[in-house]
Amino acid sequence: MKILRKNFFKEYSILFWIVFITVISVISFSIYSSEQIEKKQKFQSTLNNIYLKKSVKELTTNLKPRYISVNYVSKAGDTHESVINRLKINKEEKKKLLKLILEEKSLKILKINQKYTFKYDNLSKEKIIEFRIETDKKNEVLFKKLISQNKFISKKIKKNFVKNLTYKENLISNSLYNSAVNSGIKPNIIIEFARLYGFQVDFQRDIWKNDSFQIIYEEFLNEENKIVDTGDIIFANLNLQNTDLQLYKFEYEKDKFDYFDENGKSMKKTLMKTPINGARLSSSYGKRKHPILGYTKMHTGTDFAAPKGTPIMASGDGKVIKAGWCGGGGNCVKIKHNRTYQTVYAHMSKFGRGIKKGVKVKQGQIIGYVGSTGMSTGPHLHYEVIENGRKINSQKLKLPSGKILKGNERKNFEVSKIKIDVLKSDLISKSN
Ligand SMILES: [Zn+2]
Repeated sequence: MKILRKNFFKEYSILFWIVFITVISVISFSIYSSEQIEKKQKFQSTLNNIYLKKSVKELTTNLKPRYISVNYVSKAGDTHESVINRLKINKEEKKKLLKLILEEKSLKILKINQKYTFKYDNLSKEKIIEFRIETDKKNEVLFKKLISQNKFISKKIKKNFVKNLTYKENLISNSLYNSAVNSGIKPNIIIEFARLYGFQVDFQRDIWKNDSFQIIYEEFLNEENKIVDTGDIIFANLNLQNTDLQLYKFEYEKDKFDYFDENGKSMKKTLMKTPINGARLSSSYGKRKHPILGYTKMHTGTDFAAPKGTPIMASGDGKVIKAGWCGGGGNCVKIKHNRTYQTVYAHMSKFGRGIKKGVKVKQGQIIGYVGSTGMSTGPHLHYEVIENGRKINSQKLKLPSGKILKGNERKNFEVSKIKIDVLKSDLISKSN
């Protein structure tokens, strides 16, 4: 019995302690909460104090940075006025800024994706103290306020770019163009590459599956490390059936550049075999059944099938002697290169910018675009070469080779070539 009692007390003492602790916590919590409510009320009344309100407002205004920069990129339908109207400034200031912009000749045409940057001074009455507008990816106009005279001065400035040399190589699986695009090469570099090889390579017949190319060219990067433009090709190689056709860029005279093979021989010839890039030779020179007329007729030119709008190049330097309608040839251009050679380009959808009778053109210049005008079954370029008044097969054309470097020029070329070879192995090791 004694033992039992003792146990009874022991159990009750645990219960007692639990009840005791609970009661104490409830009491202390309610004291705490009432204190909190009081504090909150006090805080609320302080906040409502008008003087404090004012100083808090001042404090937060002063916390805003004095200078801020705002960017805007123009979209379709924008005008300088609509862009200015987006700014959080008063009407008078908007008017002033717009007048400045409209006075600037280089800003007459607003294109899509032109970048504006406005710099605000939040403490000044007229907020904008500086702004710049791009004219293209490389240039911009800067307007800067001379605070003392309260007027803006403007100047054109070149943006800072970093030149980078890039190396690309690839196997040619279907076409040079597709393989180059797949390697991330910019279109204007591909066009230049095709132009360089256009003298000696017939892109339809000479390129086989698993031929390959290598290329080093210049890229220009902006502050955000984005490629904004491409420069020159420094080195190119086209490996056709295990034969390398290498080209090195070389300055043979001050400011005169050309491309030479490893023996110092220029690739340049009077005329190109292929005055079009990315095309498929669809009909060669010779006798054939005419696709529209039906009977067998001599085909006095070479046809290159290509999508409508593909640029057509002048195959050599010369003078345009015709740019107009040629009957069955549709829109056509005829160029006189020298006393011996003339070339004709037919079925164009439209002519190149500024191409008309009498203008001089440079080899590789765009003179028109592929179409299907005149007597034609589909978009293609009909290309003719006329030698001493006679139409000849452009693909069998054998023209004298260009410049061959000799003496000091050759010595300098060898040095430049070694430098490019070292650069190439350096870029290859980096890309792997
Ligand atoms: Zn034809």
